[in-house]
Amino acid sequence: MLGLYVHIPFCSSICNYCNFNRGLYDEALKTRYVQALRQEIAGAPAGLQADTIFFGGGTPSLLEPAEIASIVQSCRDRFNIAPGAEMTLETNPETVDRAKLERFRAAGVNRISFGVQSFVDEELKRLGRIHSADRARAAVREARAAGFDNVSLDLMMWLPGQSVATWLGNVDALVDAAPDHASLYLLELYPNAPLKDEMARGGWSLAPDDDAAEMYLRAMETLERAGLEQYEISNVARKGMASRHNLKYWMDGEWLAFGCGAHSTRGGVRWKNISGTQDYIQRVTSGVDPVTERRILSATDRLEEALFTGLRLSTGLDIEAVGARYGTDVWAQYGEALEPFLQERWLVRDGPRLRLTREGMLMANEVMAVFV
Ligand code: SF4
Repeated sequence: MLGLYVHIPFCSSICNYCNFNRGLYDEALKTRYVQALRQEIAGAPAGLQADTIFFGGGTPSLLEPAEIASIVQSCRDRFNIAPGAEMTLETNPETVDRAKLERFRAAGVNRISFGVQSFVDEELKRLGRIHSADRARAAVREARAAGFDNVSLDLMMWLPGQSVATWLGNVDALVDAAPDHASLYLLELYPNAPLKDEMARGGWSLAPDDDAAEMYLRAMETLERAGLEQYEISNVARKGMASRHNLKYWMDGEWLAFGCGAHSTRGGVRWKNISGTQDYIQRVTSGVDPVTERRILSATDRLEEALFTGLRLSTGLDIEAVGARYGTDVWAQYGEALEPFLQERWLVRDGPRLRLTREGMLMANEVMAVFV
C-alpha cells in the first residue's frame, strides 16, 4: 500500500541550523496553500490504496485542526484509505495545548511526532528553538490526555557545546517522558548555517568524534533498557510502534507526496514538486503541473537504493529476496567489496540476511558507499 506525505512549509521562526524547505508563517499564504494542496490531491490518480498519511514540515501543527481535517478528507475522497491507517502530525511543542491536540485527534490524526530536540533550555536556545524543555514535557502530557497512544519524540545529538554527560541527561529525560517511539538525529551543519557563526561567536564547539560515537552507543543501550528497541539507525520504538510510514522509505515501498518540494516514488519513477511555496500555489491553482523533475529509476538505481535503505534497519534485509526482485545475485555483485566490513564485524551475514551491527551503524556511510 502507498504512503501519503503532505508537506507543510510554515514555521513560527526559523531555526539556525535548518535546511528544510520552509518559510515564515503567513496566515493568508497558508490558507491559499491548503486550498492548493487539496486541489493537488484531488488531481491524483483515483482509487489507489494507502495506509499512512504523514504531515511533515515545516511545522504542520501550525495548521488549524479543521484544515488538517479538510486535507485528510481530500485524501479519503481520492484514495482508498485503509481502516486503521497511521496518520502522523509533526508537531512543535509550542504550537499546541490539550484542546488543540484533541481537535487534531478528532481530525483523524492518531500519531503525534514532537520536535523536542533537547531537554536542556540552553541547548534549545543555541538552536534557535522557541520552546522550553518544560513546554515539551507538558505537550507530551497534553497529547496523552487528548487520547494519543502513539507519541514520538525527536531529539538531536552532538549539539554545540554538548558533552557526553549532558547528552545522556537528555536521553534520561526522554525515557522519563515515556514516548512510544523516538528518533535521534545527529546535528548536521550545512555550509552556510547561521549556527556556524553563532558557534564561533559563542565559543561552542562540537565534542570529538569518539564522544559522538559514545553518545550514540550509550543512548541506544539506555533506550533499549527502557523498552525502546532500535529498529533503524536513528529510530527506536516500543514493540509494534515503529513508524509504518517511514518503514516504506526503508523497505523499498512507494509513496505519493503533496505540497511544495515534495518527492514521490511510484512504479519505478521518482518525481519532485517545485520548491517555492508561492510557485507551487501559482502552478496548482492555474492548472499547471507542479512537478519540476521526473526521473525513471533504472533497475540498478532501484536495486542500490533497496540495498542501502534496507541496511538502515536493525534487522537488515534479505539479499536473496531483493536480488530476486531485481534479477541479480546481490552477493556475486557486491560480496567482494563487502567482505572487509564483515571482517570488521560492522556487517553480519546470517543466511540470506545482511545487517549492520550497532558499531557498523556508526560506519554506515562507508558501508553503503559500496552500493552507490
Ligand atoms: S521548526 Fe523545524 S522546519 Fe521549522 S525552522 Fe525549525 S527545524 Fe526548520
